[in-house]
Amino acid sequence: MTTDSSVSSLLSADPRTAAAADSVVAALTLPDTDRQFDVANPASGEPIATVPDFGAADAIRAVAAADAAGLEWAARTPRDRADILRRWYDLIIDHADELALLITREMGKPLAESRSEVTYGSDFVRWYAEEAVRPGGNVREVPSGGGTLLTRRGPVGLAVLITPWNFPLAMATRKIAPALAAGCPVVIKPANLTPLTTFYVVELARQAGVPVDLIQVITTADAPAFSEAVLADPRVRKVSFTGSTGVGKTLLRLAADNVLRSSMELGGDAPLIIFDDADLERAVNGAFAAKMRNGGQSCIAANRIYVQDGIADAFVEGLATKMAESQVGDGLADGVIVGPLIDDRAVANMQSLVDDAVGRGADLRTGGSAIAGAGTFFEPTLLDHVPQSADVAQSEIFGPIAAIQRFRSQAEVVQRANDTNYGLASYVFTETLDRALNVADALHSGLVGINQGVPSNAAAPFGGIKQSGLGREGSAEGLEEYQDIRFYNVARR
Ligand code: NAD
Repeated sequence: MTTDSSVSSLLSADPRTAAAADSVVAALTLPDTDRQFDVANPASGEPIATVPDFGAADAIRAVAAADAAGLEWAARTPRDRADILRRWYDLIIDHADELALLITREMGKPLAESRSEVTYGSDFVRWYAEEAVRPGGNVREVPSGGGTLLTRRGPVGLAVLITPWNFPLAMATRKIAPALAAGCPVVIKPANLTPLTTFYVVELARQAGVPVDLIQVITTADAPAFSEAVLADPRVRKVSFTGSTGVGKTLLRLAADNVLRSSMELGGDAPLIIFDDADLERAVNGAFAAKMRNGGQSCIAANRIYVQDGIADAFVEGLATKMAESQVGDGLADGVIVGPLIDDRAVANMQSLVDDAVGRGADLRTGGSAIAGAGTFFEPTLLDHVPQSADVAQSEIFGPIAAIQRFRSQAEVVQRANDTNYGLASYVFTETLDRALNVADALHSGLVGINQGVPSNAAAPFGGIKQSGLGREGSAEGLEEYQDIRFYNVARR
């Protein structure tokens, strides 16, 4: 993720060769197992590595090893844990080029965006290196007298972390860093499509001084067998998941049997609202970043773009031009702004969304088709005058389609924006401060980008409401997700 409001402004990275990326993959040390599965490059469809296909028994062995290492880790001083996290951050920065190549190779995003993900993902490690020495707690007097209440926070225990493919580094560090800072051991299961970055960054953690067994990486072709086994193990005390709402609900059901602390970062359906008084250039650049970062494959991607009537024609013209000019291709190639989608299924889904919307009367302004040849590419696509009945207006798009609807009044657009089961991100573009804050307050949403399209930051509590999730990642709140609270009531004479 970037801290810049324009994706295209980031694309000044050195061109890198596929050979350089392949040598990073080859340098990975992966555990040896009988069964394995392939990891492919979505820009070509070619396999780039094989990773272990661990079974449920392996996962339970990983739980046992992490649990054993966790005792000693929890007993270390906060400063000791903080120093190791800080060394891990420094190593990630030292290896930023290799990590960026790896992310692009396995996930497809343009290299400049992968570099931004390294910056964003490493920020969680630096932030929690700083937070590790501030574990919280407080002292209060019993209101009726006779005692002092000491509130303390300690590690929740072994955490199972399950991550998606769209931000292979940041989704891992956003969970591992607070868990380690709090004193918890972890078992992490990265997405099958993008496990290599996790292996690499965990290797860097070990080089930084994290005990070898403290972080266990389990790759598996059978995710349900993994979660059913580990979430039932009494040594596990926490599950943190980022992915689709459907899988999140399944994991919450499993977590219920073991009464696990649960953090869920689930799907999104972000509305992006542009009022007539918005700065046009800011709105176009912000909407482009919010829509097209990661090729639209982000949980906070602008999913429904609402534009007020007075600015709509100029905005649509500006965004359509920017999308039409965006170069699509292999993320390692110079000048590419939009990489491949993650797989064939995603391409077929984009085509079906476009065909359905056009069939229902939407106006196709640019793009609209899959790109023939190797890899899984889809044209940046803008659909204007999208009817509410279209699938694209009612589902998480997760791809490079901007779906535009028009609106008249503030009250009307707030009502339409909130008409969804999700509540992760929203965006508001207006030059009026009162309106920006009033609309942000009225939106049912865990985070709001105001006049900007890339709101995430390690210092902010990222997370959703409604069916977008439970809990927060980043900031001080993200540490609390890995802490139990206890109190001592000390009698006083
Ligand atoms: P997904 O739910 O298919 O998979 C996510 C992870 O869960 C993967 O590692 C997958 O292997 C694993 N998984 C799948 N079924 C499982 C099971 N039964 N038990 C254990 N693990 C299982 O999601 P995805 O396609 O990888 O990612 C896209 C989705 O993630 C989108 O809905 C997106 O909005 C969401 N997402 C949310 C956030 C957030 O912070 N809220 C961030 C990124 C992505």
